[in-house]
Amino acid sequence: MQKQAHAACFLSVWLWALACHNPGDFTRLTGFNLKQSQNQCCPLDENFLDFAASCIREIAQLNPTMILFDDDLRFGHHDIGLGCCCELHLCDIESRLGGEELPKGKLTELFFCGEPNKYRSAYLDSMGDSIRNFARRMREAVDSVNPEIRHGTRMLAGCSIPTAYHASGVAGIAFGENAKYLPKQAFESGLILDMASAKILMGAGHDVGILHIGERIYPSEEHYLAESEHIHCSDVTAHRLELAEGATVQSRFVCSDGKEYPAAFTYENSEGHRFLVFAFDMLFTGETIYRNYMRQKQLVRCIEWLQRKKLPCICTGNPDLYIMCKKNGSGEYAVGLWNLSEDYIETPTIEMNGKIINANFINCLGEINESKIVLETVQPFAFAGFTARVIED
Ligand SMILES: [Zn+2]
Repeated sequence: MQKQAHAACFLSVWLWALACHNPGDFTRLTGFNLKQSQNQCCPLDENFLDFAASCIREIAQLNPTMILFDDDLRFGHHDIGLGCCCELHLCDIESRLGGEELPKGKLTELFFCGEPNKYRSAYLDSMGDSIRNFARRMREAVDSVNPEIRHGTRMLAGCSIPTAYHASGVAGIAFGENAKYLPKQAFESGLILDMASAKILMGAGHDVGILHIGERIYPSEEHYLAESEHIHCSDVTAHRLELAEGATVQSRFVCSDGKEYPAAFTYENSEGHRFLVFAFDMLFTGETIYRNYMRQKQLVRCIEWLQRKKLPCICTGNPDLYIMCKKNGSGEYAVGLWNLSEDYIETPTIEMNGKIINANFINCLGEINESKIVLETVQPFAFAGFTARVIED
C-alpha cells in the first residue's frame, strides 16, 4: 500500500471537427433534402477552414501531447444525414462533371441508385477531397506551431480502451475501407471487423467466419450472452449472417418479431487468424451501438482473446473516461486517465495485466491492491495518472 501525489505533466485535447456553437455566416452541412445542419459547418467553406485553423493554432500553442478529433470528422454522423449538398459542394460536383447542372430534386436517385456512374464518382470524390483537405489544413495549422504534436481520431477511446497507433502485436481495428490497406502482419494479432470490412476481406479470399451475408435486419435490442444483459439499440441496420462452424456468437440482435440473429461473433480460421466481427456497418450506426457498458466488457474480453494477451490496463464502467497507457524501455508502465465527463468518478479501479510491485501517483492519490490500482475520486474534466511496475501474467 502506498500513497503519493505529483503534479500533472501531460495534456491531450479532444475536440469536435465540424461543429460550431455559433456558425454565423459559415456554410453549414446540407442534407439531400437541402435542409441545413444546425451547427455543423461545411469543410469546403474557406472562411470556416480559416476559423478552424486559427482555433487549432491556439490549441497547439498550449503545447498538448496530442490533439484528438472526435468521430464527427466524416459525412454521415450529423443531424442532416449523409453527405453534404450545400451550394459549395454541388458547385464542386458540377465542375467535376464538366459544368453539367444537377437536378436539385433528384440528387438521391442520381448519386445512390443503380450501377456505378459518373455522378456517384463525382459525389464521392467531392466528399472525400473536402474532408482530406480539412485534415491537411488542420495538420498545417498544427505544424506552423509545433510539428511534434500528434493528431488522432476517436475509436476505442469511447470505451476507455487504451488505443495504440501503428503498433504491432496488439489486436487491430479495420472498419470499412480500412480493410483494403491492411499489412500482412495485421492478421497475426487479431482484427475487429464490421460488415463492410468483412465483405472486403471475404472478397480478397480471407475466411472471417461468415458463410453468407443475408438480408438487412433492423434490431431493437442486443442480447449480450456472456453478460446476460439486453441493451436497447436504435439506428442500427445489420445483416442476417450465416456463420461458419467454429464461430462463437458473443451477442445477438433481437428484432421486433422476437427473432434473434448474430450481432457479434469471434472466430479463428485454419491459418490461426482471429476475428471479432460485428454484423453492422460502423459508418451507418449511432453511437448507442458502441457506447455502452456491455459493449465495453465484450470488447475487453474479445480483444484479449484476439491478441492472446491481456490489455495493459482496464478501467470499465466510466463514460467518457479516456485512457492512455505506455510502457517504457525498462518495462515500467505510465497510465493517464482523463475524465471527460461532467460526473466525477468515485474510486476508479484500474486493473493492470499482472501483480503491481510499486506505483507513483501523479496529480492524484491511490492504493495498490495486487493487480489493481484504486484511485481516489477523479473530478469532472480532471486528469489522474500513475507509473507502475508490473509482473505481467
Ligand atoms: Zn458542403
